[in-house]
Amino acid sequence: EGHADPDHSVAFYSLDMNQGMHERMRIESGLRHALGHGELLLYYQPKFEIGSDRIVGAEALVRWLHPERGLVPPSEFIPLAETTGLIVQVGEWVLEQACAQAAVWQRAGLRPFRLAVNVSAREFTESLPTRVAATLERYELDPCWLELEITESTLMHDIDRVIGIMDRINALGVALSLDDFGTGYSSLSYLKRFPIHTLKIDRSFTTGIPLDASDCAIASTIISIGRQLGHRVIAEGVETLDQLSFLRDSGCDEVQGYLYAAPLPAARFEQGLRDNWLLVE
Ligand code: C2E
Ligand code: MG
Ligand code: MG
Ligand code: MG
Repeated sequence: EGHADPDHSVAFYSLDMNQGMHERMRIESGLRHALGHGELLLYYQPKFEIGSDRIVGAEALVRWLHPERGLVPPSEFIPLAETTGLIVQVGEWVLEQACAQAAVWQRAGLRPFRLAVNVSAREFTESLPTRVAATLERYELDPCWLELEITESTLMHDIDRVIGIMDRINALGVALSLDDFGTGYSSLSYLKRFPIHTLKIDRSFTTGIPLDASDCAIASTIISIGRQLGHRVIAEGVETLDQLSFLRDSGCDEVQGYLYAAPLPAARFEQGLRDNWLLVE
C-alpha cells in the first residue's frame, strides 16, 4: 500500500529492503513502547480558504518523540505500523488525542474549524464509525469539528463495503476527504460514488506549479472535476506565492503548506490562531 504514495515509498523500501528484519522489529517494539509511554504527539497544520484567507481547518499529524532519536517523522514509522497492524492502535490514539484537543478549542469558544485525522486503509473497518461516535460523545465534541482523511488505497478494497462505512461516518456529521488525490489507483467511476466533502491535491503535483506544464494541467483538472462533482478542493504542500496564485486562478478552494505554516505543536498552533489567523469572528 505504501508504494502508491510518493511521500512514503522511500521509507517503505528502505525499511523493507535495507534495514532488514532486525531493524523493523526494533522499530515495532519501540513503537509499542511509545504507545504505552506517551511518546507520541500531534502537530497541527492549518488549512486556509483562498478567498477569505481564513483558517477553515487543520490537519493533525503524528510524531514520535523518541528518547534518544528525538522527533521522528511519520514516514519512519507509519508505513511499518501499517504493515504490522500496529496502525490500529496508533490510529486509536490519534483519534482520541485529536478529539480531546478539538474539545479544548470548542470549550474555549473558538469559531469551529475541522480538525482532520489521517486514517489508514487498515483502520477503515465497520467498527470505525462506532468508535468515532463514541469518541465524539466522550468529549462532547460537535461533529462539525472533525474530518477524516482517507487515501485511495482505502477505496481499492471492497467498494460497496467502503461506501457503507463512509455513509455511516457522514451520517455522524463528520466530513471525509480524499487525501493524496491522483497518486493512487481509484477510477473516476468510483470517484463519483464516494460521499466525500473534499479532494486533496497531492503535494507532488503542487510542487511542479507553475513551471511544470503537466503538473499545472493535472492540478487544474483535479480542481475542475472536484468542483463539478460538488466537492471542495484543497492543495497540499503550497510553498510559494506563484503556486498560490495559480491555484486561486484555477478555482481551488483551500491551501495547506509551508507558505502559511508548517505543522506546529499545539501551543504554537494556538498562538497562530490568536495572533494572525483571523479565526474569531
Ligand atoms: P499527508 O496526510 O499527505 O500529510 C501531509 C504531509 O505533507 C505532512 O507530512 C506535512 O508535514 C507535509 N507538508 C505540508 N505542507 C508542506 C509543504 O509546504 N512542503 C512540504 N515539503 N511538506 C509539507 P508529515 O507530517 O511528515 O506526514 C507524512 C504522512 O504520514 C502523511 O501524509 C500521512 O500519510 C502520514 N501520517 C501522518 N500522521 C498520521 C496519522 O496520524 N495517521 C496515519 N494513518 N497517517 C499519518
Ligand atoms: Mg493527510
Ligand atoms: Mg496528503
Ligand atoms: Mg501527500
